[in-house]
Amino acid sequence: MAEFICTTCGAQYPTSDTPPSGCRICQDERQYIGALGQGWSMLALMRRNHFCNFRQMEPGLMGIGVVPQFAIGQRALLVRHPAGNVLWDCIPFLDDAAIEIVQALGGIRTIAISHPHYYTAMAEWARAFGATILLNAADRQWVTRPDPAVQFWDVPTHEIAPGLTLINCPGHFTGGAVLHWAEGGRGKGAVLSGDILQVMPDKKLSFMRSYPNMIPLDASTVRRIAETMQPWAFDTIYGAFHERVITPDAKAVLDFSVRRYLAAVTAPPVDPG
Ligand SMILES: [Zn+2]
Ligand SMILES: [Zn+2]
Repeated sequence: MAEFICTTCGAQYPTSDTPPSGCRICQDERQYIGALGQGWSMLALMRRNHFCNFRQMEPGLMGIGVVPQFAIGQRALLVRHPAGNVLWDCIPFLDDAAIEIVQALGGIRTIAISHPHYYTAMAEWARAFGATILLNAADRQWVTRPDPAVQFWDVPTHEIAPGLTLINCPGHFTGGAVLHWAEGGRGKGAVLSGDILQVMPDKKLSFMRSYPNMIPLDASTVRRIAETMQPWAFDTIYGAFHERVITPDAKAVLDFSVRRYLAAVTAPPVDPG
Protein backbone atom coordinates (compact mmCIF):
# COMPACT_ATOMS: atom_id res chain seq x y z
CA MET A 1 0.00 0.00 0.00
CA ALA A 2 1.31 3.41 -0.93
CA GLU A 3 0.31 6.84 -2.20
CA PHE A 4 1.90 6.74 -5.65
CA ILE A 5 3.50 9.91 -7.04
CA CYS A 6 3.83 10.58 -10.79
CA THR A 7 7.52 11.05 -11.59
CA THR A 8 6.77 13.48 -14.46
CA CYS A 9 4.45 15.96 -12.72
CA GLY A 10 4.67 15.06 -9.01
CA ALA A 11 0.93 14.49 -8.51
CA GLN A 12 0.20 12.17 -5.60
CA TYR A 13 -2.68 9.68 -5.74
CA PRO A 14 -4.77 8.00 -2.99
CA THR A 15 -3.52 4.92 -1.14
CA SER A 16 -3.55 1.82 -3.35
CA ASP A 17 -1.79 -1.53 -3.78
CA THR A 18 -0.87 -0.90 -7.38
CA PRO A 19 -0.09 2.32 -9.26
CA PRO A 20 -2.97 4.13 -10.99
CA SER A 21 -3.52 3.22 -14.64
CA GLY A 22 -2.16 6.64 -15.66
CA CYS A 23 -1.64 10.19 -14.44
CA ARG A 24 -4.59 12.42 -15.36
CA ILE A 25 -2.51 15.55 -15.12
CA CYS A 26 0.17 14.24 -17.50
CA GLN A 27 -2.43 12.96 -19.96
CA ASP A 28 -3.63 16.56 -20.34
CA GLU A 29 -2.07 18.73 -23.08
CA ARG A 30 -0.61 21.07 -20.46
CA GLN A 31 1.76 18.29 -19.36
CA TYR A 32 3.13 15.20 -21.07
CA ILE A 33 4.03 11.60 -20.45
CA GLY A 34 7.80 11.21 -20.12
CA ALA A 35 9.95 9.57 -22.79
CA LEU A 36 10.27 6.41 -20.67
CA GLY A 37 6.50 6.13 -20.24
CA GLN A 38 4.46 6.66 -17.12
CA GLY A 39 6.66 6.40 -14.03
CA TRP A 40 5.72 6.23 -10.37
CA SER A 41 7.50 6.77 -7.09
CA MET A 42 6.40 7.12 -3.47
CA LEU A 43 7.59 9.14 -0.51
CA ALA A 44 9.23 6.18 1.24
CA LEU A 45 11.43 5.60 -1.82
CA MET A 46 12.15 9.27 -2.44
CA ARG A 47 13.29 9.76 1.16
CA ARG A 48 16.27 7.52 0.42
CA ASN A 49 17.91 10.12 -1.82
CA HIS A 50 15.88 13.35 -1.83
CA PHE A 51 15.67 16.22 0.61
CA CYS A 52 14.28 19.75 0.76
CA ASN A 53 16.33 22.85 0.14
CA PHE A 54 15.49 26.19 1.71
CA ARG A 55 16.24 29.55 0.17
CA GLN A 56 15.28 32.85 1.74
CA MET A 57 13.83 35.06 -1.00
CA GLU A 58 13.38 38.10 1.27
CA PRO A 59 12.66 38.48 4.98
CA GLY A 60 9.45 36.57 5.72
CA LEU A 61 9.56 34.51 2.52
CA MET A 62 11.25 31.11 2.32
CA GLY A 63 11.50 29.09 -0.89
CA ILE A 64 11.29 25.30 -0.38
CA GLY A 65 12.40 22.99 -3.17
CA VAL A 66 13.41 19.35 -3.72
CA VAL A 67 16.97 18.09 -4.27
CA PRO A 68 17.81 16.43 -6.59
CA GLN A 69 15.20 18.00 -8.85
CA PHE A 70 12.05 15.91 -9.16
CA ALA A 71 9.07 16.03 -11.54
CA ILE A 72 8.52 19.62 -12.82
CA GLY A 73 11.07 20.98 -10.35
CA GLN A 74 8.33 22.62 -8.30
CA ARG A 75 9.15 24.76 -5.33
CA ALA A 76 6.87 26.20 -2.67
CA LEU A 77 7.05 29.56 -0.90
CA LEU A 78 6.40 29.88 2.83
CA VAL A 79 4.96 33.33 3.61
CA ARG A 80 5.32 34.13 7.29
CA HIS A 81 2.32 36.07 8.59
CA PRO A 82 1.10 37.05 12.08
CA ALA A 83 -2.31 35.50 11.35
CA GLY A 84 -0.66 32.17 10.48
CA ASN A 85 1.84 31.19 7.83
CA VAL A 86 0.75 30.46 4.27
CA LEU A 87 2.42 27.89 2.05
CA TRP A 88 2.09 29.12 -1.52
CA ASP A 89 2.14 26.24 -3.99
CA CYS A 90 3.38 22.84 -2.93
CA ILE A 91 6.01 20.23 -3.76
CA PRO A 92 5.91 16.47 -4.28
CA PHE A 93 8.12 15.68 -1.28
CA LEU A 94 8.18 16.04 2.51
CA ASP A 95 10.43 14.58 5.16
CA ASP A 96 11.06 14.93 8.90
CA ALA A 97 13.77 17.54 8.39
CA ALA A 98 11.43 19.78 6.39
CA ILE A 99 8.67 19.35 8.98
CA GLU A 100 11.02 20.32 11.81
CA ILE A 101 12.39 23.36 9.94
CA VAL A 102 8.95 24.62 8.88
CA GLN A 103 7.60 24.10 12.41
CA ALA A 104 10.48 26.21 13.71
CA LEU A 105 9.41 28.93 11.23
CA GLY A 106 5.91 28.91 12.73
CA GLY A 107 4.26 26.00 10.90
CA ILE A 108 1.59 26.35 8.21
CA ARG A 109 -2.00 27.47 8.69
CA THR A 110 -3.09 27.58 5.05
CA ILE A 111 -1.83 25.99 1.85
CA ALA A 112 -2.90 27.98 -1.23
CA ILE A 113 -2.02 26.67 -4.69
CA SER A 114 -1.79 28.45 -8.05
CA HIS A 115 -2.96 25.55 -10.22
CA PRO A 116 -3.01 21.73 -10.50
CA HIS A 117 0.67 21.35 -11.50
CA TYR A 118 1.44 22.29 -7.88
CA TYR A 119 -1.19 20.14 -6.12
CA THR A 120 1.58 17.51 -5.79
CA ALA A 121 1.77 16.18 -2.19
CA MET A 122 -0.54 18.85 -0.72
CA ALA A 123 -2.42 16.29 1.38
CA GLU A 124 0.86 15.19 3.06
CA TRP A 125 1.75 18.80 3.87
CA ALA A 126 -1.76 19.56 5.17
CA ARG A 127 -1.70 16.55 7.47
CA ALA A 128 1.80 17.24 8.77
CA PHE A 129 0.92 20.81 9.79
CA GLY A 130 -2.86 20.64 10.40
CA ALA A 131 -3.29 23.09 7.54
CA THR A 132 -6.27 23.94 5.37
CA ILE A 133 -5.81 23.70 1.57
CA LEU A 134 -7.38 26.44 -0.57
CA LEU A 135 -8.01 25.54 -4.22
CA ASN A 136 -10.01 27.34 -6.87
CA ALA A 137 -13.26 25.47 -7.51
CA ALA A 138 -12.88 25.72 -11.29
CA ASP A 139 -10.02 23.21 -11.16
CA ARG A 140 -11.56 20.73 -8.76
CA GLN A 141 -11.55 17.95 -11.37
CA TRP A 142 -7.73 17.96 -11.25
CA VAL A 143 -7.45 17.00 -7.58
CA THR A 144 -5.76 13.61 -7.78
CA ARG A 145 -5.74 12.91 -4.04
CA PRO A 146 -8.90 14.27 -2.38
CA ASP A 147 -8.48 15.20 1.29
CA PRO A 148 -10.78 16.61 4.00
CA ALA A 149 -8.37 19.57 4.34
CA VAL A 150 -9.29 20.86 0.86
CA GLN A 151 -11.63 23.87 0.69
CA PHE A 152 -12.65 25.45 -2.62
CA TRP A 153 -13.01 29.17 -3.33
CA ASP A 154 -14.97 30.45 -6.32
CA VAL A 155 -14.90 34.26 -6.18
CA PRO A 156 -12.69 36.68 -8.17
CA THR A 157 -10.53 37.44 -5.12
CA HIS A 158 -10.25 35.70 -1.77
CA GLU A 159 -8.45 37.28 1.19
CA ILE A 160 -6.65 34.61 3.19
CA ALA A 161 -5.43 37.05 5.85
CA PRO A 162 -4.88 40.82 5.98
CA GLY A 163 -2.62 41.71 3.05
CA LEU A 164 -2.68 38.20 1.55
CA THR A 165 -5.17 37.87 -1.29
CA LEU A 166 -5.77 35.16 -3.84
CA ILE A 167 -6.63 36.52 -7.30
CA ASN A 168 -8.23 34.31 -9.92
CA CYS A 169 -6.49 34.76 -13.29
CA PRO A 170 -8.05 32.32 -15.79
CA GLY A 171 -5.58 31.35 -18.51
CA HIS A 172 -3.12 28.49 -18.04
CA PHE A 173 -5.94 26.92 -15.98
CA THR A 174 -9.47 28.26 -15.51
CA GLY A 175 -8.95 28.31 -11.75
CA GLY A 176 -5.41 29.68 -12.03
CA ALA A 177 -4.53 31.97 -9.13
CA VAL A 178 -1.80 34.31 -8.00
CA LEU A 179 -1.21 35.49 -4.45
CA HIS A 180 -0.86 39.21 -3.74
CA TRP A 181 1.25 39.89 -0.66
CA ALA A 182 0.91 43.55 0.28
CA GLU A 183 3.87 43.56 2.69
CA GLY A 184 6.09 41.56 0.32
CA GLY A 185 8.60 42.95 -2.13
CA ARG A 186 10.24 44.60 0.88
CA GLY A 187 7.08 46.55 1.63
CA LYS A 188 6.31 47.56 -1.98
CA GLY A 189 4.06 44.59 -2.70
CA ALA A 190 4.73 41.21 -4.27
CA VAL A 191 2.85 38.78 -6.46
CA LEU A 192 3.52 35.07 -6.09
CA SER A 193 2.57 33.83 -9.52
CA GLY A 194 3.42 30.16 -10.04
CA ASP A 195 3.27 29.85 -13.81
CA ILE A 196 0.00 31.73 -14.15
CA LEU A 197 2.24 34.72 -14.91
CA GLN A 198 5.35 32.82 -16.01
CA VAL A 199 8.66 34.55 -15.29
CA MET A 200 10.87 33.77 -18.27
CA PRO A 201 14.69 33.66 -18.52
CA ASP A 202 14.83 37.29 -19.75
CA LYS A 203 13.00 38.40 -16.56
CA LYS A 204 9.89 39.24 -18.53
CA LEU A 205 6.60 37.30 -18.43
CA SER A 206 4.76 34.93 -20.73
CA PHE A 207 1.25 33.50 -20.59
CA MET A 208 0.74 30.03 -22.03
CA ARG A 209 -1.98 27.43 -21.94
CA SER A 210 0.78 24.78 -22.10
CA TYR A 211 4.41 25.57 -21.35
CA PRO A 212 5.97 22.19 -22.20
CA ASN A 213 4.00 21.95 -25.45
CA MET A 214 4.15 25.69 -26.26
CA ILE A 215 0.41 26.23 -26.76
CA PRO A 216 -0.20 29.98 -26.37
CA LEU A 217 -3.19 31.74 -24.86
CA ASP A 218 -5.41 33.89 -27.07
CA ALA A 219 -5.08 37.68 -26.97
CA SER A 220 -8.36 38.37 -25.17
CA THR A 221 -7.45 36.04 -22.30
CA VAL A 222 -4.10 37.79 -21.85
CA ARG A 223 -5.81 41.20 -21.97
CA ARG A 224 -8.15 39.98 -19.23
CA ILE A 225 -5.19 38.85 -17.11
CA ALA A 226 -3.70 42.34 -17.46
CA GLU A 227 -7.01 43.94 -16.44
CA THR A 228 -7.30 41.61 -13.46
CA MET A 229 -3.84 42.59 -12.18
CA GLN A 230 -4.26 46.30 -12.91
CA PRO A 231 -5.68 47.37 -9.51
CA TRP A 232 -2.95 45.67 -7.48
CA ALA A 233 0.28 47.35 -6.39
CA PHE A 234 3.47 45.29 -6.54
CA ASP A 235 7.16 45.75 -7.21
CA THR A 236 8.23 42.07 -7.24
CA ILE A 237 6.97 38.90 -8.90
CA TYR A 238 8.11 35.52 -7.58
CA GLY A 239 7.65 33.05 -10.44
CA ALA A 240 7.61 29.28 -10.56
CA PHE A 241 11.24 28.56 -9.67
CA HIS A 242 13.81 29.86 -7.17
CA GLU A 243 15.70 31.96 -9.73
CA ARG A 244 12.63 33.29 -11.59
CA VAL A 245 12.11 36.59 -9.78
CA ILE A 246 11.34 40.01 -11.26
CA THR A 247 12.28 42.99 -9.07
CA PRO A 248 12.07 45.95 -8.98
CA ASP A 249 9.30 47.48 -11.13
CA ALA A 250 7.52 44.18 -11.71
CA LYS A 251 4.26 45.95 -12.49
CA ALA A 252 5.87 47.83 -15.39
CA VAL A 253 7.42 44.56 -16.55
CA LEU A 254 3.98 42.95 -16.55
CA ASP A 255 2.63 45.81 -18.68
CA PHE A 256 5.54 45.51 -21.13
CA SER A 257 5.21 41.72 -21.23
CA VAL A 258 1.50 41.91 -22.07
CA ARG A 259 2.26 44.36 -24.92
CA ARG A 260 5.05 42.09 -26.18
CA TYR A 261 2.81 39.04 -26.05
CA LEU A 262 -0.12 40.74 -27.79
CA ALA A 263 2.23 42.05 -30.48
CA ALA A 264 3.41 38.48 -31.12
CA VAL A 265 -0.03 36.90 -31.38
CA THR A 266 -1.94 39.74 -33.07
CA ALA A 267 -1.97 40.29 -36.83
CA PRO A 268 -0.72 42.44 -38.42
CA PRO A 269 2.50 42.40 -36.38
CA VAL A 270 3.02 45.52 -34.29
CA ASP A 271 6.04 46.79 -32.42
CA PRO A 272 5.76 46.12 -28.66
CA GLY A 273 7.30 49.55 -28.00
ZN1 LIG B 1 1.72 13.24 -13.83
ZN1 LIG C 1 1.58 24.73 -14.96
